[in-house]
Amino acid sequence: MSLDTPTLYIIATMIAAMLGAMLLLFGNQERIRALKWWGTAYLLGATSVGLWTVTGGTLGDLPSLVLNAVGFIACGIVWNASRVFRGRKPILPAMVLGAIAWIAAALTVAPAGSMIRVIIGAGIVTIYAALTATELWTERRRSLQRRWPLIVVPVMHGFVLMLPILLGSLLQPHDPKFASSVWVTGFSVELVLYAIGTVFVIFILVSERAVTAHKTAASTDPLTGMFNRRGFAEASSRLIDREAHAGRPVTALIFDIDHFKSINDRFGHAAGDEVLKLFAIIVVNTLRLSDLSGRVGGEEFAALLPCSLEDGVIAAERVRAAFANSGIAVETGPVDTTVSIGVAGGPAGTELEVLLAAADTALYQAKRTGRNRVEAAEELPLSLENWRRKTAGVSRPPQPSVAKLA
Ligand code: GH3
Ligand code: MG
Ligand code: MG
Repeated sequence: MSLDTPTLYIIATMIAAMLGAMLLLFGNQERIRALKWWGTAYLLGATSVGLWTVTGGTLGDLPSLVLNAVGFIACGIVWNASRVFRGRKPILPAMVLGAIAWIAAALTVAPAGSMIRVIIGAGIVTIYAALTATELWTERRRSLQRRWPLIVVPVMHGFVLMLPILLGSLLQPHDPKFASSVWVTGFSVELVLYAIGTVFVIFILVSERAVTAHKTAASTDPLTGMFNRRGFAEASSRLIDREAHAGRPVTALIFDIDHFKSINDRFGHAAGDEVLKLFAIIVVNTLRLSDLSGRVGGEEFAALLPCSLEDGVIAAERVRAAFANSGIAVETGPVDTTVSIGVAGGPAGTELEVLLAAADTALYQAKRTGRNRVEAAEELPLSLENWRRKTAGVSRPPQPSVAKLA
């Protein structure tokens, strides 16, 4: 099969320019900064390769060196785009370092048409491709099975660019036959595939990020940034499964801020919201990293700890004391903030609803006996059914926090 190399280059250039414009437009529309970087890189790269192809080697050595340098800057921008995508800062000096190294090398050790020039050029692109692959690979917000193109595409590109180095002495770039050799053809075809492959990768990442963002929003409480009821229930069932596997007990805590209605009434709803946020911070900071917590109702919070009931009571007591001593004040004076906490522990594999039901009974006890207290559940209902039957006669209706979690 014989493919006309200049034609291939022109097609590659046009595809890259089109993809660049598409990425820029999409990036602008969706306000994704990394896509704008990516689009700019493609447009810049396409311009440099396009001019180089169209002028067909009639340029002097210096102008063509500068064109090449612009191409290397485009590679640097692609790498920075992958950094921006991960929320990292672009590194501008490293972005132009390849171009500077190229010009410096060309003017000193690598005369026009020499093999060493091809090797240095391919080496620079390979380094940027490897850096890009590393950034994309370590981007963790995506599922595993869809991960392979993230590494295969840039690595394939890097490998093809390395071919001239690997084949070193076999290639003679100044030989007229070189331009029509199978290597150059393969190289051009690969460039087209790379341009398309990378855009494919970008769209995988963008769509996965959008899905993750929606999932996170659906399980997060916007006021406190904690899990909401749904997020807490989902994370809890994973924690319970994991602990059950290891045969370890779990303990649930339910927190209900005391006389919260009166805080709202005296200081306003906005001040009430601030108290909720502060309480969330105290819970998160007081509990361990391995503990789960969430806001499961207006002024009700819950936590699930991978520990025994006794240790859970100690943790609850720490939260109670920290909140009571938090010293919240408004202009008119201190706001007395206290919390009542119900704690219930169960053997490995106890369901969340069972634990919360028992913790809720304990919480009710803490409210009844004076508030600003921690109460532990004396017994765990064998099943939710039994517990519902047993508490059916008690004056307090079953809490929706328990029923809804099922
Ligand atoms: P107790 O000690 O018995 O728990 O008394 P309480 O006043 O805390 O209990 P109650 O359940 O009667 O009142 C809870 C209040 O929490 C009522 C509601 O207006 C308020 N609330 C619920 N959600 C929010 C919120 O997001 N922000 C604010 N500021 N208040 C909220
Ligand atoms: Mg309440
Ligand atoms: Mg309350």
